[in-house]
Amino acid sequence: MPDVAEILIPLALDTAYSYVVPEGLRLDAGDVVQVPLGPRETVGVVWGLAHTAGGSNLRPVTGRVDAPPLSEPLRKLVDWIARYTLAPKGSALAMVLRLPDEAAARETARVGVRVSGKAPARATPARRKVLEAAADGALHGKSALAKAAGVSLSVVDGLIDDGALEAVAVEPEAVAPPPDPDHPRVPLSDAQEAAAIELIAGPARTLLPAAVPNLAAPDAGPLSPTGEGERRGSGESLAHAEASLPGPVLLEGVTGSGKTEVYFEAVAHCVRGGRQALILMPEIALTAQFLDRFAARFGVRPAAWHSGVGGRRRERLRAAVAAGEARVVVGARSALFLPFRHLGLIVVDEEHESAYKQEDGVHYHARDMAVVRGRLEGCPVVLASATPSIESRVNAERGRYRHVRLPERFGGRRLPDIRAIDMRLDGPERGRFLSPPLINAIKANLAAGEQSLLFLNRRGYAPLTLCRACGHRYRCRNCSTWLVEHRFRKALVCHQCGYAEPRPQACTECGTFDNLTACGPGVERIAEEVAELFPDRRIIVLSSDFPGGAERLRMELEAVAAGECDIVVGTQLVAKGHNFPHLTLVGVLDADIGLTSGDPRAAERTFQLLQQVTGRAGRGERPGRALVQTYQPTHPVIAALLSGDAERFYAEEVAAREAAGLPPFGRLAALIVSAAEREAAEAQGQALARVAEPPAGAMVLGPAEAPLALVRGRYRFRLLVKTERNVDLQSYLRDWLARAPKPRGSVRVAVDVDPQSF
Ligand code: ADP
Ligand code: ZN
Repeated sequence: MPDVAEILIPLALDTAYSYVVPEGLRLDAGDVVQVPLGPRETVGVVWGLAHTAGGSNLRPVTGRVDAPPLSEPLRKLVDWIARYTLAPKGSALAMVLRLPDEAAARETARVGVRVSGKAPARATPARRKVLEAAADGALHGKSALAKAAGVSLSVVDGLIDDGALEAVAVEPEAVAPPPDPDHPRVPLSDAQEAAAIELIAGPARTLLPAAVPNLAAPDAGPLSPTGEGERRGSGESLAHAEASLPGPVLLEGVTGSGKTEVYFEAVAHCVRGGRQALILMPEIALTAQFLDRFAARFGVRPAAWHSGVGGRRRERLRAAVAAGEARVVVGARSALFLPFRHLGLIVVDEEHESAYKQEDGVHYHARDMAVVRGRLEGCPVVLASATPSIESRVNAERGRYRHVRLPERFGGRRLPDIRAIDMRLDGPERGRFLSPPLINAIKANLAAGEQSLLFLNRRGYAPLTLCRACGHRYRCRNCSTWLVEHRFRKALVCHQCGYAEPRPQACTECGTFDNLTACGPGVERIAEEVAELFPDRRIIVLSSDFPGGAERLRMELEAVAAGECDIVVGTQLVAKGHNFPHLTLVGVLDADIGLTSGDPRAAERTFQLLQQVTGRAGRGERPGRALVQTYQPTHPVIAALLSGDAERFYAEEVAAREAAGLPPFGRLAALIVSAAEREAAEAQGQALARVAEPPAGAMVLGPAEAPLALVRGRYRFRLLVKTERNVDLQSYLRDWLARAPKPRGSVRVAVDVDPQSF
């Protein structure tokens, strides 16, 4: 009887395909293999193996690929993500596999070649081509070199044998020396010590083998990343389940409380125990300061994983993670899918960040999937934030997560004193954006030799450009958005799709010259105003779209931290995570941005952002303060910010969500229907609505034009599904989509479970 292997292929396919295992090949679940697919060969992963009578008509597996096999928890994570997000299983696998092409895979052998200077014994045209391609003297991958020269790999091998090329071990820097958990460190404060013990003691007693629930159980109940559904389904009491699961911990501490040092202790504990730790960060490009802090604690920098790590380096790091050599990885959300050998801890820093949600391809939330992976690996998960998401707060309050708190700043430092500037009374001059009280505060701060930060969450110079003669407003041709003027780039730019056109001299509608006007401010415009007000001061403008990329940004951030500038003007880029010891004044230019949108998460998001940015002030020796320009000083979000009463804000927001049945008290999903023609998108939306048939406890709203009705030339309609918490949302969505007519032509239907804006 032949062995049949179920191979999952990392393409948008929902099921694994069957192949026969050829005589003599021993396969295990999780092995990465090569298989024929139609006329070509592709890579897949063994998802199951069976001993069957049939299978003679099946094509054989070609062979094993030299790549780390996928562990069982990682395969279960793929299954889980596919079930939860409704993405095809193969698409979820693609996130884990991210296999480079075959050539790059071979380079993981960790050798490179370069010219030795010795002439080859024989000089054929093919050999000459290789030597020309390698003439720069740099280290090349063998197959990359063969490819560049357009010859076969054996030619390169021949030159190595001849001595004309020398093979060198490639820089082993990806596998740095392991972090030393006992590296000399600053002593923790009593509060930090207590929090660290709480963090570590909890997980340590819960590492039981029974920690991995059987997710495939048919009675598993509604899927939820917190796992309550499964517990309910398996009949366990909540109290019992809590004790046997290494449940997540919410580490909540005000800005500057020293959370990082606290979770570093959990990392140290994990490393001492011989396991690997993963620290997820929302914006990896900005973590140079963080990597240095890590090095100060552990003696070496951790391995960093992000989109900037390319090619061979990426593969080497992946291999090091799989081999268990990379002990601590710091990474952006995709690091969650690395093939850790012994994962012992996941930290999700700034867990409230919306950057953790991926909104194309597989729509997943990295924080939630981190909780799932932690459960599958049987390892603790620490969610850290000064301003946790409503979801995590509720989970902590209801005992689904443990709650560890640091209510005070490290070293007895005070939280900044926050005041509002009522723009209705104290507004700026016409065409200006800095109010007199804010200007005075900056002056006083400059006189005291201290640093100020002006925050406006808007890139570019002006969010809208219009012609004073004809009233024409400049709009993106692919999206339903206004074009944003970027004076630096001398262009009008769409922030949605990146479309850009030069700022015209004459109006493109009426032809009038020099009559375009910029409406409203962006950071560039604020910087201009600040430069006029304080001409001889050192001003740094920080925005993600500035030239120079991550490297320049890193240097500018260092300059700010070192006190080498007087005034910083920045977008949300500077709002989060940074430690600027000289900064004592934060001015928020427009606290009301974001409060006016119809999105029910607007209040939460604005509150988090304003708490974060005002929390940059006074982290050093001197106390800080913040001035917040607003037209609505009595708005609950602003009022909570001013009073420093985060508890009250959370309590009100939680109550409002509960009353409206919004997450986390109800479940929510969006279907986004898009098409090149508006009518086609709308028609598909209506066809879906006609067969919606929501079960008890569920309702379907729409189709309505999506908040962004046109993006990249595609029209978008949206249906919202709102259900009670105990409804099996995923099963319902599957049944519904199966009933609906298949999308045709350019029509696409995307599912977004737990949409972030709705
Ligand atoms: P959070 O992440 O909670 O905002 P951080 O971890 O960045 O806070 O700590 C705030 C500041 O306090 C940083 O400058 C950090 O270096 C300092 N700090 C934290 N813990 C200690 C400690 N135990 N000893 C000395 N400095 C500390
Ligand atoms: Zn656009």
